[in-house]
Amino acid sequence: MKKLILLFSLALLASCGNETKKEATSTSEEGHGHSHSQVTDEHGLAPHTENTIHQYAPTVALLNSIYEGNITPQQMVQQGNIGIGTVNHLAGELVAVDGVVYTIDAEGGIAEAPEDLESPNMTMINFQPKQTVTVENIESYEDLTRELQKYSTSKNSFYAYRIKGEFKHLKMASAHKVENEDVSLFEYLDTRVMYTRDNIKGTLVGLFTPDYLGNIVIPGMHFHFLSDDIKLGGHLEDIKFDKLSIEIQEVNQVNLQLPETEKFRNKDLKQGAAPKATAKQNGK
Ligand SMILES: [Zn+2]
Repeated sequence: MKKLILLFSLALLASCGNETKKEATSTSEEGHGHSHSQVTDEHGLAPHTENTIHQYAPTVALLNSIYEGNITPQQMVQQGNIGIGTVNHLAGELVAVDGVVYTIDAEGGIAEAPEDLESPNMTMINFQPKQTVTVENIESYEDLTRELQKYSTSKNSFYAYRIKGEFKHLKMASAHKVENEDVSLFEYLDTRVMYTRDNIKGTLVGLFTPDYLGNIVIPGMHFHFLSDDIKLGGHLEDIKFDKLSIEIQEVNQVNLQLPETEKFRNKDLKQGAAPKATAKQNGK
């Protein structure tokens, strides 16, 4: 299936930006005949995937109650090895770890995403951390955000994260399927299912998106969890841990893929402030 790919070169100030900028240019020069699946690097990824946020559907689609998309797990893993997203009709969450996409049901249960799964909103990153830091005594989501911001040398870039280890406490969220497709995103968020676990081993993958990009990628800090035994996952709402290493990658490019669904193509999209990933970040 041919996809419309828009490349936004954002603030290519970092030296690592030179390489991606060149790749972005060569992709556009190849024009309409270019097939991303035919040209891959040693990771099996298309060349433009390095150091790029791959966003399927802008956040503004969810804001306009477009809860159906057509990206599949096979397409997701061509774009990166970690990722966060949601299932069509918001029937649970998605998390990608080590190049495998998993579904998270409303109780936090995990299954490998079936081939025919489709998503209305997915963010994938070919995670290649440039920095590993040790963070201690985290007692809340705010603590984690504050600690991570110490290592963000740009206020206006994306930062991708991977945190692996034992967590003292996690509060997570997932959701049941949206029955009424006209329900607003804000109403839906109020119905999310919350659950907690103590002393659990696993991996958090996540992303910081600055507010000004909030209509493209969900703004703020956004993490999804997968347990080491591949039994439990969720969208992170709160966290406590004693001491863990956190891998960090600054990303200065976003590749936005627009859905080809009829609803997306025909809807008059209204702009609005996108909710951040957690209730806490939204001041609730
Ligand atoms: Zn989420």
